[in-house]
Amino acid sequence: MPPDNWSPYWNPKNETLSRKQLDQLQLVKLQRSVERAWNQSPFHRRLYENAGVNPDQIATLDDLRRLPFMTRENWMESQAEKPLFGDLITRPRDQAIRYHLTSGTSGRQPLRVLDSRKDWSWIAEQWCYGFWGFGIRPTDTVFFAFSYGSFIGFWGAHYCCEKIGCLVIPSGNMTTENRIKQIVEMRATTVCATPTYALRMGQVAQKMGIDLAADGAIDKVIVSGEPSIPATKAMVEEMWGAKCGDTAGMTEIGTIMIFECSHQPGGTHIIEDHFIEEVLNPDTGEPVPYGEPGERVVTSFGRGFIPLIRYRTKDMVIKVPASNCSCGRTGDLYQGGIIGRVDDMKLIRGTNVYPRAVETVVREHPEIEEFQIVLTRVDNIRDEITVQIELVPGSDDIWAELQKKLGADLADAHEGLRFNVERVERGALPRFELKAKRLQDLRDQ
Ligand SMILES: [Zn+2]
Repeated sequence: MPPDNWSPYWNPKNETLSRKQLDQLQLVKLQRSVERAWNQSPFHRRLYENAGVNPDQIATLDDLRRLPFMTRENWMESQAEKPLFGDLITRPRDQAIRYHLTSGTSGRQPLRVLDSRKDWSWIAEQWCYGFWGFGIRPTDTVFFAFSYGSFIGFWGAHYCCEKIGCLVIPSGNMTTENRIKQIVEMRATTVCATPTYALRMGQVAQKMGIDLAADGAIDKVIVSGEPSIPATKAMVEEMWGAKCGDTAGMTEIGTIMIFECSHQPGGTHIIEDHFIEEVLNPDTGEPVPYGEPGERVVTSFGRGFIPLIRYRTKDMVIKVPASNCSCGRTGDLYQGGIIGRVDDMKLIRGTNVYPRAVETVVREHPEIEEFQIVLTRVDNIRDEITVQIELVPGSDDIWAELQKKLGADLADAHEGLRFNVERVERGALPRFELKAKRLQDLRDQ
């Protein structure tokens, strides 16, 4: 099909189904998924038998709520009891073609996943909804600033771009400097990275004397892997002279379940023909209405090896109706993408602090190159919150003013809570390519 006839949708039929049609499709897929989990995953059979529910009781979409939640904790227990994969895998291991695992931060057991060839085809397909929807076309040259390790990350996006027919540039273990050189030399039009690393590349390019907005050909930056922060996206867009599109996925799903379309409505569409996304009060498990924050609970229809039904994600989101975007897609949106984690909130002297809110304030100051939030307890009673700052080169003379301004802005955003703002030496703070960790809670150590 010639370029001027390309549809704006990857799947024109499914992305524009009416709500009623979507409901019918979701119900059929749900019934099939529950049936399969019941028959093929001892983990799910046990979970459902303990809750006194069976596949025959799923007659309407509302019956989804009869099913018990699946959690990372009970998945981990199953893995520990029946190493390596637990008893929720529906097929023998030799039918898989790929193994991935989570990074297992803070000594936690990693989550291990297997996928078949069919699963990988589905994984790539989900990314296609997002990449095509943001405007990636066969004529694009797509650069992956990604390490291609055991973390599943952008693997599926790579296959999606091959499926679309883009020219794909993997960059494996390249240094940041070499990545930037290749992006410019190859006239790449799209770059994929975490938001943190997209910023980092922009900063390194500046030090190399390269103006990515003027010297490069990038017009789209696709980010994933971290909560979405509008101020950070705005900085990425300015540095790269490009539009920045948000996506989000998870190892448990193997792919993305939401993406921002080219209309950039300030939110991400849910791929509703492949997922049911419930938004629930994290304490009560009851649904919250449109416009209110809650925890996303996902049911996935596509991964054959691992049934994922009512999985508690601990991601905080705000769902709004599809009519909030003008693109014509009928999938509802998460306003602002993933807005944080259920367990992100820290209580400091009676005030709630979310790392995302701190980052939003910090990113309003382009002179700040990197930062960390450090929580400490003084004399065993008083909690202190300190934001450590590394400035971009050449901004020394604004430090005194910035320190005062940032302290005041942070207090304003947190009911007057006092923040300590400290400057640290250049290079003292960690840099991140994947999943930035900018909060250290030293209070219980
Ligand atoms: Zn849209």
